[in-house]
Amino acid sequence: MRILLVEDDDMIGKAVSLALKDAAYAVDWVKDGDTAHSTLKYSEHQAVLLDLGLPKRDGLDVLRRLRQAGSKIPVIVITARDGVEDRIHGLDLGADDYLVKPFDVHELLARLRAVVRRQGGQAAPILTNGRISLDQSTHRATCADAVADLSAREYALLHALLLHPGRILSRSELEERIYGWNEEVESNAVDFLIHSVRKKLCAEAIKNVRGAGWLVEKL
Ligand code: CA
Repeated sequence: MRILLVEDDDMIGKAVSLALKDAAYAVDWVKDGDTAHSTLKYSEHQAVLLDLGLPKRDGLDVLRRLRQAGSKIPVIVITARDGVEDRIHGLDLGADDYLVKPFDVHELLARLRAVVRRQGGQAAPILTNGRISLDQSTHRATCADAVADLSAREYALLHALLLHPGRILSRSELEERIYGWNEEVESNAVDFLIHSVRKKLCAEAIKNVRGAGWLVEKL
């Protein structure tokens, strides 16, 4: 899952992007409102963490334009403690949730999981297609009797597929969801991950559709 982090504070930005990477997200970090706005026009991110006080363009303006353009991407607004009116305004403009600085990264991760689940139409913390299950807080997957603790990348792969059972994701779509802008991606990286998830979990966990990509079956 690929996250756009919009934060001009270096210390907070570094801490948040590290925590997100540790939790298996691909993170792209931008530091001003204009770059956020232009990135979101064309990007394939699955959620946005949006600071409000930003250089060049206010976070609320980024959010307003995003919703005006019809985007339904989950947005969590990050605000200062005294910004009650901004928070209310942000929620009115279409933010899905907000966090008050300073915040605990574990709370941020939990809120992020929750908005992404709601977006996918699954309110429970465990993603499943009826056969394969994936616990989003522990990264533990099950398939029949098999139980596997997935690595960060394996988790990101299975999560992307299990969020929409039955939908085929191409190699480049999977790469987009697993890796950030600055990460080198080996040409066979996705194949390796699929192989290791199948081996850890069950061979039929991920189906290949020749020439198109991969999917987790909708049962
Ligand atoms: Ca700021």
